[in-house]
Amino acid sequence: MDIIKQIDEAKIFIVNLPLIEPFETSLEVETHKAALLLKLKSGDCSGWGECVSSPDPFYSYETNETAVYIIKNYLLPILKKKQEFSINEVMNEFEMVRGHNMAKATVENALLDLLAKKCALPLYQVVGGKNKEIMSGISVGIKKDPNDLIQSINDAKKKNYHRIKIKIKKGEEITPLRLIRKAFPDIKLMVDANADYSIEDLELLRQLDDYDLMMIEQPLAYNDLYCHSKLQKELSTPICLDESIKNLTDVELAINLGSCEIVNIKQGRVGGILKAKAMQEYCLKKKIAVWSGGMLETGIGRAFNIHLQTLPGFTLPGDTSETSRYFKEDIVEPSIKLSPEGYIKIPEGDGIGVEIIPERLKRFTISSERLV
Ligand SMILES: [Mg+2]
Repeated sequence: MDIIKQIDEAKIFIVNLPLIEPFETSLEVETHKAALLLKLKSGDCSGWGECVSSPDPFYSYETNETAVYIIKNYLLPILKKKQEFSINEVMNEFEMVRGHNMAKATVENALLDLLAKKCALPLYQVVGGKNKEIMSGISVGIKKDPNDLIQSINDAKKKNYHRIKIKIKKGEEITPLRLIRKAFPDIKLMVDANADYSIEDLELLRQLDDYDLMMIEQPLAYNDLYCHSKLQKELSTPICLDESIKNLTDVELAINLGSCEIVNIKQGRVGGILKAKAMQEYCLKKKIAVWSGGMLETGIGRAFNIHLQTLPGFTLPGDTSETSRYFKEDIVEPSIKLSPEGYIKIPEGDGIGVEIIPERLKRFTISSERLV
């Protein structure tokens, strides 16, 4: 059942979707989502994957261009050689390429979608998920005007999002937090620093303990588990790691060093759904809560994140929001909508359960290339 026959066609697309409003973090301001999509075809079935890289190497060293390079020159040649294969088998062979987990996840995702479609099953059933719906969460970018921030949170609260995350940057965090807590003393709130602080900022970071935060996401450098472990001992607020976690070894190290109490598992950042599943299983055993972060994905990447969150370790709301929060028009249907209680239904149908709209794909594509 888990065998895929030879890949007959592989095509990559770069699409550029305008965001409804610019999204600012401590790293950059994004006005468009430039996404790398991969379509793999075997027989009558096609599967789609989306790379979570960006055009620039700010969040990660991987970019859309490095991902295309790795997929084209290293990952697809492994696939092309095979008459029949399992996804685990090719993922093991992909290990000969160091890092480049975003590129690997793109291929893995497309293969999983393909396999699930071949089996006529929704993806979550193929990967062992159970839940029929997941919690929602929203990530609010840095706002110049505090009224805009309050407005965004008010809108999210009305929609019953299960938690609200705000992006913060060093020196500009206390004023917005004070305003938010004054206006909304009870909302489930967390902050994401995208590695903007260092351990020298301990006194400033200590002040965050006053705002009843669910967690502080990635306060320190992406490559510094040691200082995160020192910081966690000084704070009562749990630290959640995002950029620091690239694979299961990082999770084991972070948990055993005491560098975090929560892990953000972005399947697109850690090499795909199967790797993410192994990480959530480890965290579940260690009683470490996990959630699924977002990378402003189009409806394709977002669908994978939704299916992932049906696994049992995902006990905290993630970054999955309504489509209309980011895009006026997505390249897939149906779009994601919240139930009145703020939940998201798992898409029905085979594979990821969303359909690419060819006219929109064509309109938003800025370049494409057939690789096989
Ligand atoms: Mg983050």
